[in-house]
Amino acid sequence: MSPFSLDGRRALVTGANTGIGQAIAVSLATQGARVTCAGRRNCDETLALIAAAGGHADFLALDFADPLAGQGVFAGAGYSILVNNAGIIRRAESLDFTEADWDAVMDVNLKAVFFTTQAFAKAAIAEGNTPAAVVNIASLLSFQGGIRVPSYTAAKHGVAGITKILANEWAAKGVNVNAIAPGYIATNNTEALRADEARNAAILERIPAGRWGAPEDIGGTAAFLCSPAARYIHGAVLNVDGGWLAR
Ligand code: NAP
Repeated sequence: MSPFSLDGRRALVTGANTGIGQAIAVSLATQGARVTCAGRRNCDETLALIAAAGGHADFLALDFADPLAGQGVFAGAGYSILVNNAGIIRRAESLDFTEADWDAVMDVNLKAVFFTTQAFAKAAIAEGNTPAAVVNIASLLSFQGGIRVPSYTAAKHGVAGITKILANEWAAKGVNVNAIAPGYIATNNTEALRADEARNAAILERIPAGRWGAPEDIGGTAAFLCSPAARYIHGAVLNVDGGWLAR
């Protein structure tokens, strides 16, 4: 079997209805995994893309407005892959930033990631669904400060941190925990940036690859990190950014 194959694996991807999560779900399914597309609204478009590619997928309603929403999902279900992709961003000057915007982002982008991963790993380890893999979607703001996004930056730095501690604790138990730090990827999330001519030009000027990333650029990396080929990779936060951080 190819070391990149995910045949026989069961995967769950959060926020799989659109953008990066959709591309990851399609990529995992294309490599042979049966993918649960989790989202707070329907994932019909993703299910159709996977079916058209000859893959297998189902839908699970999951809203991380309750960061413990993933607790009942994994026991007895046979998952060996989890991709924590769902995320939100709130923008305001730090001087004016509200507690509500702090809590909303921390709940979805960090607290839900930790407790969903805990529930996944408890089941995978107890039920012998190993080797297992967790991929967290981090950000350039896991390394850089950004501007006007304090809760997002704090949460994404936190994602890099928990990726490392969980890798340390679970590597010997057969669970690989890694993260991907996407650069500037063309999704709903970045529509406003791309629409702003000056910002768009400044961003493109700094990207050595000379283009925005596509969601598929992240999908392929996620499939690799879940595969046997990546079995000795633990606690990595892999930049997939067209070279942005190398500048
Ligand atoms: P997106 O198109 O806005 O997708 C975000 C996903 O998260 C959507 O599926 C969204 O569902 C889901 N989500 C948000 N709140 C949720 C909740 N409470 N419960 C369940 N799902 C929820 O943005 P994207 O660019 O693909 O972002 C995906 C991930 O990549 C995020 O973690 C983001 O921080 C990260 N990222 C993106 C970039 C970039 O350049 N695009 C760069 C670095 C990191 P709805 O469609 O229902 O809102």
